[in-house]
Amino acid sequence: MRSGGLRATGPRVEVLGALEDLGGHRTADDVHDLLTTRGRRVPRSSVYNALSSLVGAGLVLTADAGPGAVLYETGREWHHHFVCRVCRSVVDVPGTADALADLYPDPSVGEVDEVQVVIRGTCINCLPGR
Ligand SMILES: [Zn+2]
Ligand SMILES: [Zn+2]
Repeated sequence: MRSGGLRATGPRVEVLGALEDLGGHRTADDVHDLLTTRGRRVPRSSVYNALSSLVGAGLVLTADAGPGAVLYETGREWHHHFVCRVCRSVVDVPGTADALADLYPDPSVGEVDEVQVVIRGTCINCLPGR
């Protein structure tokens, strides 16, 4: 996007760049903190708005990692997440948005168009003996 046709100004580009630089799964506050550190005075609400429009544009994904702030990450490939109960690290797990839709076939409930799975456990680094 930075090298693309979009203007290199405005919160959206700043926010996307910050999220890319942070890497991994980050909260809106993480992005806001980095922008502040860089001397960018972007209001928190603008960070949220930018993230939401980037999600709408398919440039940023949200990660549903359970209770707590929504996590954002750059990328276009839908996937699921493994969340470590010990260190709270979040690891990407391959999978598609509709892979498990047939688990919920009851049309009286509604129509499924997206499934994101959170797998909880102990990550390889937190397993005893590591
Ligand atoms: Zn862990
Ligand atoms: Zn992820």
